[in-house]
Amino acid sequence: MSQSGRPEVLAYIALGANLGNAQASVLVAIQRVASLPGTRLIRSSSLYRTAPVAATGPDFINAVVAVATRLSAPELLQGLQDIENQAGRLRPYRNAPRTLDLDILLYGDASMNSPALRLPHPRMHERAFVLVPLAEIAPDKVRPEQLGALAFQAIERLAATAP
Ligand code: ADP
Ligand code: MG
Repeated sequence: MSQSGRPEVLAYIALGANLGNAQASVLVAIQRVASLPGTRLIRSSSLYRTAPVAATGPDFINAVVAVATRLSAPELLQGLQDIENQAGRLRPYRNAPRTLDLDILLYGDASMNSPALRLPHPRMHERAFVLVPLAEIAPDKVRPEQLGALAFQAIERLAATAP
């Protein structure tokens, strides 16, 4: 990848898992995201537990991290998909239970609208499991009324992550 000369961009990534040891999957994934080329971890939310919304299967473990990255948005997405595949993710059908799901919520103030990459993530404001951890690490990115609109979605805060 040709990330070396590029300026850093602040990106927010949502992590979710609901198969196997979901907590461990999310914690390992955070370390792998932080190890992508040209990328460093800025902040990491607590882990959260949520019941599946459109998906099926056991409860989800979710978190959001902020990274500063020199990868382009498509390069970052490719890196995240490599990490999903490394975690053994299969896609048997839409919204199937998953060992790991990594979505780019925000990439600086970029706006993109191809099927392969939409930014900001089109459904981020519909999901408490995204907005609540995002608000924990970036309160300026979430308005109180957006959080209030999702208050009906149960979400339980678990242990803090390191760092
Ligand atoms: P979902 O995250 O909606 O449950 P998937 O993880 O299977 O479903 O993603 C489906 C497709 O969404 C991916 O192949 C990816 O190219 C595309 N996509 C579009 N925008 C984004 C984004 N901001 N972050 C991650 N994937 C995205
Ligand atoms: Mg995804």
